[in-house]
Amino acid sequence: MIVEIDTNSGFCFGVVRAISLAEEALKDVGSKIYSLGDIVHNLKEVQRLEGLGLQRVTHEDMAKVAGCRLFVRAHGEPPTTFERAKELGIEVVDATCPVVAALQQRVIKARDMMKEFGGQVAILGKRGHAEVVGLTGQIKEEIVVIEGVEDLALLDYERPIYLLSQTTQSVALFNQVAAMIRERLWDEDLLVAEDTICRRVANREQSLREFASRHDVVVFVCGKKSSNGKVLYEVCRKANRKSYCVEDESEMSEEWFAGCESVGICGATSTPLWLMEQIAEKIKNM
Ligand code: SF4
Repeated sequence: MIVEIDTNSGFCFGVVRAISLAEEALKDVGSKIYSLGDIVHNLKEVQRLEGLGLQRVTHEDMAKVAGCRLFVRAHGEPPTTFERAKELGIEVVDATCPVVAALQQRVIKARDMMKEFGGQVAILGKRGHAEVVGLTGQIKEEIVVIEGVEDLALLDYERPIYLLSQTTQSVALFNQVAAMIRERLWDEDLLVAEDTICRRVANREQSLREFASRHDVVVFVCGKKSSNGKVLYEVCRKANRKSYCVEDESEMSEEWFAGCESVGICGATSTPLWLMEQIAEKIKNM
């Protein structure tokens, strides 16, 4: 049986950068370092970093880590988090992905433009997701979060709309949402639609489709909380109905591979290569 790991899968540059910054910070044992939420949406990688000393805290715990170092992950944070850290004497190790940081600035620009024209800012994204919280928190005005076409009723079609996207959304969904908004507006020029989806995710869709369709069975590895994992797994599933999504090797079943000649292993931008290799080993030993 051929077991192939997709060379285009695994950590994107934003996650590689965040993990390197965390590893670097962990070398300095002088002051403790805490991560605000899971550094990456992958339990196994989180556990590995915990083994090196990184401890996870929530926003509510910030007062307890006063005077220590706090790691801000690739998803970014709203300005209120940085202000609170300053008040508490917390040194921030900021690993906000540069792509997300640029999008945060775009949110401010969109607000300024919409303020001038009495419009509204909307973001295609998942409510409560750390990146979306960081984006909506950039401005005091309300941002309408659209999770899918079912949320389109939340917009006021009498006013201009500036539509942006969380970096890990699907391009197809963004285009669909933008087209449906245009249809509802009395003048389609009242919509500014800026597809701010990260190309490190979007560009993977085509190669993943080809990868998934050339194997008998596909094992997609990703954390349950990974947004881009959900999007990319859907791409696999559409290309190959024998696609399975697992968080680690314990979730695999031998029956999936009965009679199959080739297995493709792939994953999200938060999936470490070492985990895909571990899964490949397990399949070879089955
Ligand atoms: S998917 Fe894109 S935006 Fe998100 S961390 Fe990776 S490089 Fe940055």
